[in-house]
Amino acid sequence: MFKGIEFISDINLLPINNKENLRQVTQHFPFLATTYYLSLIDFSDPFDPLKRIVIPDLDELKSWGKADPSNENVYTVMEGVQHKYDSTLLVIASERCAGMCRYCFRKRLFLKDNYAKPEKLQDLKGLIKYIEEHKEITNVIISGGDALMLPTSQLETLIKNIMKIDHIRFIRLGTRILSYWPYRITEDTEFLEMINKYSKATKRIYVVTHFDHPREITHEAVKAVNLLHKAGAVLLNQCPLIKGINDSVDTLFWLFTKLASIGVAPYYVFQCRPAIGNKPFAVPIEKGYKLFEKAKAKCCGVAKRARFVISHAIGKLEVLALTEKNIFFKFHRAAKRKNEGKLLICERNPEAFWPEDYISFEESFYS
Ligand code: SF4
Repeated sequence: MFKGIEFISDINLLPINNKENLRQVTQHFPFLATTYYLSLIDFSDPFDPLKRIVIPDLDELKSWGKADPSNENVYTVMEGVQHKYDSTLLVIASERCAGMCRYCFRKRLFLKDNYAKPEKLQDLKGLIKYIEEHKEITNVIISGGDALMLPTSQLETLIKNIMKIDHIRFIRLGTRILSYWPYRITEDTEFLEMINKYSKATKRIYVVTHFDHPREITHEAVKAVNLLHKAGAVLLNQCPLIKGINDSVDTLFWLFTKLASIGVAPYYVFQCRPAIGNKPFAVPIEKGYKLFEKAKAKCCGVAKRARFVISHAIGKLEVLALTEKNIFFKFHRAAKRKNEGKLLICERNPEAFWPEDYISFEESFYS
């Protein structure tokens, strides 16, 4: 396994005065990157999108957002286990990532001193018992942090125990390792053998990648994708829409097209969550939706499979359409079953970053 670079001062290609400024940011929100990822950055370009992903921005210090913007604590049924949607269980299996995305919506996991308790799974037996008792659960997401930061042996124990439960039909592994350190896959035959062992014809392992930008789809990343396919995994990609990173029609078009060309289905594009430190990264919902639709209009059907969604405390709201006066949202997933599929029609607000900028949700949406 690699050793991440944790100190801005160790990056030779950043000017010294710039590093001193950025240290103020890292006192609040840590810095972490891999040598591989830093090598993809064009440090001579002040607006390099990959640089924006990992190099701190002074505007992160502007007061904005919450530590837990989607109220994940409300759905936490035991340490590291969230049950928000009937059929899906989310397991926070790791509190580590290979790099720290500046816009991370779960950055509270990395800020132990300031925010709350550990949120990682502690009790495997308790998890298995919970799943066995909840027959409505058909699938489990193993995430974090990054699921692939777990040693293969630990990941195998988790997968083996979950997969042997009859009513579990598939598992998703949430990871950004293919962007930050694809060697985790290309150089670990044990990991690939494990995927091959548990991803069966009628019970698959999905690997949900997180490519933000087409430049992250490097030769090594493609090699990792190919090996995962050969091992029997199914691949999907999700990413947030982030200012200065992928908020352009061309970038999204090429991201979707390159993903389709390597056999990774574009799955979700998320509205940037109002998490602490995220002010410089958020794009207004309506602007983001228009960019997303224009990019999709250039794509063929295979490349335009992604949905633009907002992961809100009450559910996943898909942005469906804009008219001159209104914006239309649909519950793609609802935390309360009665809201499933419901349509929300709101008056447009070009300054809106989150659904509450359109509507205040009554208690009935939550209970
Ligand atoms: S990989 Fe995901 S969890 Fe990790 S820092 Fe990035 S956004 Fe956050």
